[in-house]
Amino acid sequence: MSEPNYKEMVDAMSHNDASYDGRFYVGVISTGIYCLPSCKAKLPKIENVVFFATREEAISAGLRGCKRCKSEQYPDVLPTWLHEVLKFMRENRTEKLNEMKLIQMTGHDISTVRRYFKTHLDTTPLGFHRRLRLNHARDLIESGRDYLSAAYDCGYESASGFRDAFAKQFGRPPGRLYANR
Ligand SMILES: [Zn+2]
Repeated sequence: MSEPNYKEMVDAMSHNDASYDGRFYVGVISTGIYCLPSCKAKLPKIENVVFFATREEAISAGLRGCKRCKSEQYPDVLPTWLHEVLKFMRENRTEKLNEMKLIQMTGHDISTVRRYFKTHLDTTPLGFHRRLRLNHARDLIESGRDYLSAAYDCGYESASGFRDAFAKQFGRPPGRLYANR
């Protein structure tokens, strides 16, 4: 899903379009509040509005959540099946997951599952799971495990595949974790 452009965001905000919830946030400088596009509170003056791509950015800019649209809680208002998938992923960090499994678990087609992940977590289902697995691998390595066995324990079948994925996520290869100690 592409990022909405400025005009699209103004339109979405003006029409309280809930389909844009999670795709951007409406910051209102005059009140110090950030809202979901669907917020039913009085429409702010456009000169006071700043759009944010993520909730984290709105919070970093010093804005507070809105009581009306509950923008603060929004990313946590997930469908039940998504909670179950996330729980499953956390509990199964030691093996690779495939999308067929997600389809079976959720009863949704894969594009729906992907859309929810994109909207709420800004990543793909497998990307999210990969991050969990790599975090787990890093924890294992930091607690003294050699990186090859940590890699195998987190579902990586090749050392080079693990090294690449690890370096991509953490910005350094796994072997260098100890370099600074
Ligand atoms: Zn609001």
